[in-house]
Amino acid sequence: AQKRYASLRGLPAQGLCGTVVSLQMNAGLMADLPSLEGSGADGVGLFRTELQFLVRNQMPKRAELAALYARVMDAAKGKRIAFRTLDIGSDKVLPYMKPNDEPNPAMGWRAIRVGLDKPGVLRMQVQALLRAANGRPLTIMFPFITELGEFTQARGHVLREIHRERSLGHVVPEKVEIGAMCETPSLAYAPQAFFELVDFVSIGGNDLKQFFFAADRENERVRRRYDTLNLSFLSFLQQIAQRCAASNTPLSFCGEDAGRPVEALALAALGVQGLSMRPASVGPVKALIRRVNLHEIRAVIEAARDSGAESARPALMDYLAGLPQ
Ligand code: PEP
Ligand code: MG
Repeated sequence: AQKRYASLRGLPAQGLCGTVVSLQMNAGLMADLPSLEGSGADGVGLFRTELQFLVRNQMPKRAELAALYARVMDAAKGKRIAFRTLDIGSDKVLPYMKPNDEPNPAMGWRAIRVGLDKPGVLRMQVQALLRAANGRPLTIMFPFITELGEFTQARGHVLREIHRERSLGHVVPEKVEIGAMCETPSLAYAPQAFFELVDFVSIGGNDLKQFFFAADRENERVRRRYDTLNLSFLSFLQQIAQRCAASNTPLSFCGEDAGRPVEALALAALGVQGLSMRPASVGPVKALIRRVNLHEIRAVIEAARDSGAESARPALMDYLAGLPQ
């Protein structure tokens, strides 16, 4: 199978219907970058920046971060990397920050909430990214955006840092894309202005699913209780895709489900244009996309919904079993 996937490396993830899906990889370490070439991914759809903060016993310095981000960009050789700003709190606690005793950290003071309330670290991280880019295009993505105002504020910090870097005489990227992760259901119902302003949306399916079903992703008893192919959840994802389409906002998905071939098909069929996953999943997902017509997959999902099924999985598995080998 490995050989078969290797032979697909240079080929697009294109369905029989002609739709091309951009397959990207998730990363968080310098050591992940060689997989970019090996897997044939189009870029890094999610670069989790927490690790550099977690592996130290003190806050990293701006220059250290800038040097690291520059090496990551060098290794990507011009492929796009979506750098996600720090997502701490919840399950990721920094050793040098006073732990907050929160009854419910996943819904607590985490991610962009920390970034906006104590913007020093967020601004330092943005400065490090701008310096690392050194004129190259840059993509920044904010975690856990819940309403329009949080996005405008976070974006404001980036715009101010760009202005400041320029006034200090540093080169700034000619293009900075600023996106938001959709990880709470509220963002799907944000005002149209949000979808107009944001450069792209990336669904953080791990968190979005836990909040949609109210099922803790860390709790073994409930974390697999609800199927990602549950038709209520798929309808919800389809609404997000429709809102993005209405404003021509690129939409991707970077939770673990993007790397599961059947889930990946469903996401692509509902209008998700980019899927970001573990590098090892790129081959299997691509191989399956290339065998199917995504319009037919969508019709299978909609027929399952109309029939009153709970999940699209049985219908999709039946459909796939009937495909020519
Ligand atoms: C997600 O929530 O789906 C996601 C990609 O972010 P993380 O898993 O780091 O919370
Ligand atoms: Mg998340």
